[in-house]
Amino acid sequence: MFTSELATVSYIGATILFILSLGGLSNQETALRGNLYGMIGMTIAVLATIFGPQVTGAGIPWIIGAMVIGGSIGMYAAKTVQMTQMPELVALMHSMVGLAAMLVGFSTFIDPEASKSFVGAAKSIHEMEIYIGILIGAVTFSGSIVAFGKLSGRIGGNPLLLPGRHWINLMGLLVVIWFGREFMNAHTIQDGMLPLIVMTVIALLFGIHMVMAIGGADMPVVVSMLNSYSGWAAAATGFMLSNDLLIVTGALVGSSGAILSYIMCKAMARSFISVIAGGFGTASAAPAPAGGAAQPAGEVFPILALETAELMREAKSVIIVPGYGMAVAQAQHTVYEITKLLREKGVNVRFGIHPVAGRMPGHMNVLLAEAKVPYDIVFEMDELNDDFPKTDLVMVIGANDIVNPGAQDDPNSPIAGMPVLEVWKAKTSIVMKRSMASGYAGVDNPLFYKENNRMLFGDAKKMLDEVLTALKA
Ligand code: NDP
Repeated sequence: MFTSELATVSYIGATILFILSLGGLSNQETALRGNLYGMIGMTIAVLATIFGPQVTGAGIPWIIGAMVIGGSIGMYAAKTVQMTQMPELVALMHSMVGLAAMLVGFSTFIDPEASKSFVGAAKSIHEMEIYIGILIGAVTFSGSIVAFGKLSGRIGGNPLLLPGRHWINLMGLLVVIWFGREFMNAHTIQDGMLPLIVMTVIALLFGIHMVMAIGGADMPVVVSMLNSYSGWAAAATGFMLSNDLLIVTGALVGSSGAILSYIMCKAMARSFISVIAGGFGTASAAPAPAGGAAQPAGEVFPILALETAELMREAKSVIIVPGYGMAVAQAQHTVYEITKLLREKGVNVRFGIHPVAGRMPGHMNVLLAEAKVPYDIVFEMDELNDDFPKTDLVMVIGANDIVNPGAQDDPNSPIAGMPVLEVWKAKTSIVMKRSMASGYAGVDNPLFYKENNRMLFGDAKKMLDEVLTALKA
């Protein structure tokens, strides 16, 4: 059993480990250690909470039962989920945090014991914590469910733009403030219940409305923004339960999610303020007006695996740009085999990673690390963009939006302004994909029609296996 002092010390230890964990996760070489710190910190936190002073003996079997069920579901999901489905899983997990905040809020409110110790100003603050906690929790819950639906393709990617949507949101906010006042003035639990339920329904509808209004290409920012919201929901839960560790951890997740959203906004040329406000990306994510974005036309030049291998052999410098298709095809190991072979022949091979390549932040880095690609040849977009004109060959493997020159050249393109890897400036580029289909943002790609571009059609893994065989021959 943990005494109150021991629980506090454990919480401080866990907090330090969480901070070290976040620090470690910021770099590939220390990411493994970062994960380990996080796991140890969480184990200490859970033990200190279960066996701490706030839980009585009778509650322990319930908690352990819930942990076994929850832990089994979590472990099963983590084991079976494909890398490409990770953002959906993360969105679902965020929804759970939101749901937990809502449930804790309601149970704290109706528990007569919980509010007994609060009088005067402390009581008002406690009620405000409940109201705001449920509000953030409800927005996070319903918003994350819609994000899950969109990312998994169960809900269409097109933005739903209701007429006067900003006015609807404003009205919702005013009603929530009004009922907040009613809630604070209520003297009994019964009186407070109606404002609380009305606010919860509005917050749930707001969460749905907010994410439904966001177009496909902006979804990565939504995922990290909901990550941030889920942190604030957890912090609010910490306030309701008077649990310092939950407050600190929630604030860490909330602020790191906000920083990540900011970085991604920059990577996608979006305004951070409008993201935080919720309604963002709609203008540019909306389908291009008729006669708007220029439709690229012309001839494409297909190429075979054998010819690709020849071009690779002749090149002195090669940049590989991986995207979502490499993840789907699980081609990273073959990519590494090819890289190894070319490097042995003295070719300068580097990787160019776009911040939103794939379907989640860091997606490509994780795959390349899994395939044991050395970190020192993996570069970020900004580090490589000036080097393309000096590069002989660029291999674009299952990437599309992130190498679309339309983002720079066509102000009417739905992805106009999004920074992209300028692969078309290389001597030759080869795009590997199965067809002429568009990418996540649903935009055609003028790169495919450039004179110095070749298309290697087929599944990335299958085609790269053929290229590897040809290179070895
Ligand atoms: P894209 O979705 O733009 O393009 C991927 C391409 O891969 C497709 O055009 C597809 O073409 C091809 N492909 C699919 N399967 C295979 C396969 N088995 N073998 C070969 N090619 C394949 O991906 P990018 O990585 O270029 O860009 C990421 C996009 O996803 C951006 O629009 C970004 O905003 C968005 N996004 C990013 C998130 C993040 O956090 N990183 C989260 C959510 C969305 P074809 O069908 O012809 O094979």
